[in-house]
Amino acid sequence: MAYKRTEISERDIQRQLDICKRIKERNDGLYSSPLAMVDTYGCQQNEADSEKIRGYLREMGYSFTQNEEEADVIVINTCAVREHAEMRILGNVGALNHTKKKNPNQIIALCGCMVQQEHMAEKIKRSFRLVDLVFGTHELWRFPELLEQVMSDRKKRVFAIRDMEGVIAEGLPHARDSGIKAWLSVMYGCNNFCTYCVVPYVRGRERSRLPEDILAEAKALVEGGCKDITLLGQNVNSYGRDLGMGMDFADLLRQINDIPGEFLIRFMTSHPKDATEKLFRTMAECEKCARHIHLPVQSGSAGILKAMNRVYTPEQYMALVDLARELMPDLVITTDIIVGFPGETQEDFEDTLRLVERVRFDAAFTFIYSKRSGTPAAKMPDPVTREEKQERFDRLLALQNAISGEKHAAYVGKVMKVLVDDVSEDERCDFRGRTNGGRLVHIKGEDAALGEFADVKITGSSTWALFGELV
Ligand code: SAH
Ligand code: SF4
Repeated sequence: MAYKRTEISERDIQRQLDICKRIKERNDGLYSSPLAMVDTYGCQQNEADSEKIRGYLREMGYSFTQNEEEADVIVINTCAVREHAEMRILGNVGALNHTKKKNPNQIIALCGCMVQQEHMAEKIKRSFRLVDLVFGTHELWRFPELLEQVMSDRKKRVFAIRDMEGVIAEGLPHARDSGIKAWLSVMYGCNNFCTYCVVPYVRGRERSRLPEDILAEAKALVEGGCKDITLLGQNVNSYGRDLGMGMDFADLLRQINDIPGEFLIRFMTSHPKDATEKLFRTMAECEKCARHIHLPVQSGSAGILKAMNRVYTPEQYMALVDLARELMPDLVITTDIIVGFPGETQEDFEDTLRLVERVRFDAAFTFIYSKRSGTPAAKMPDPVTREEKQERFDRLLALQNAISGEKHAAYVGKVMKVLVDDVSEDERCDFRGRTNGGRLVHIKGEDAALGEFADVKITGSSTWALFGELV
């Protein structure tokens, strides 16, 4: 392989767990019940990382709180994908000044993609003195060691950020949010360098976990009662390429599908350039694979896709969707779209609208382009005004909302199998759940059981959700 894959040894992880024990003993002498708060921004990968941070904190004896005033340790897991997220994070970190004044022993840590960028780490060093610990995306596995350094000398601030191609660390403790649904990372990093995107710079190169580690984790989840596993990677379709084992993502899906038990397999994200007929055929043949694919198109203009370095044309994308729907007529397709990429003309934008009308996505996450320093797009001329971009964004959103609403309305009258995963926040309903295709359903029916599949008759719909009754 052209790049260096750094595997963290079992012994190194054991050393971190020993440090957790040491911190626990120390806390036992200081607090009756130490509290920690972990705040997560950004994508599902970050959610999964935060579960590992919570896993370590739990080993240290911490319980969890959502209240920053009472937390002894606050960890903020940051996102760098858009400027808006960074502004919000910095604002919220600044607001912690008052909690820290009240409780000077409070430890504040920042980690994740935002702080992996050198200019951001510098900014925090200079302007956010209240932050005690900053660690980058490649240091998460040694969070206990870094926290202990902070605890041993409260005058010291610890900054641990390394620019490297990336580590693989197995065996970290995991405090998962829900027993019903789980995130499962199958690979880390990204090699695609889409010209707008900061992820490859902050997450390192693509590296796949070994299939046996993934299978063991999936098996343990299913045995523990988990009913819905989402496999995570920036581009899961390139899973295995770096392992040289002749195994690809479709093969992995099939092996997970063979684990006994009733559960659903989901995955994200799929880059269209690597989505294959084999993948779709495998999905169609595996009864546990959810009928949903998140396939970000980003733009409907050939020129913009080229400038984005997405390596497919709108026609290729639409052909892919047609093929997937031919093999799975009930497939739910969702996407991501960026409006206002540098140089996007009115015509380019109209091409995006046309593609959206043609494909009729079930849902789309739409974003206004955000300039990320260090990326190639940041140097491209960008003459379109913010107001113009906002107008385009609003038009796209209105179109997609209408389509989403129509798609949802088509479910009314049908009986759907739904995994009940939480209580409903809609006061007319009791529970909420997801269809096999991932659509949110608010359910009337006190007899539904959390963590079970239930048949639900769909009686109503909106742009965002379905409403139904237990049958
Ligand atoms: N690996 C995933 C996406 C990760 S980022 C993929 O390739 O699909 C999630 C989404 O954020 C992207 O799909 C894109 O639509 C959006 N995004 C990424 N960088 C952005 C930027 N600089 N400005 C606006 N949106 C961006
Ligand atoms: Fe970013 Fe493109 Fe990689 Fe997705 S595939 S993380 S958009 S560079």
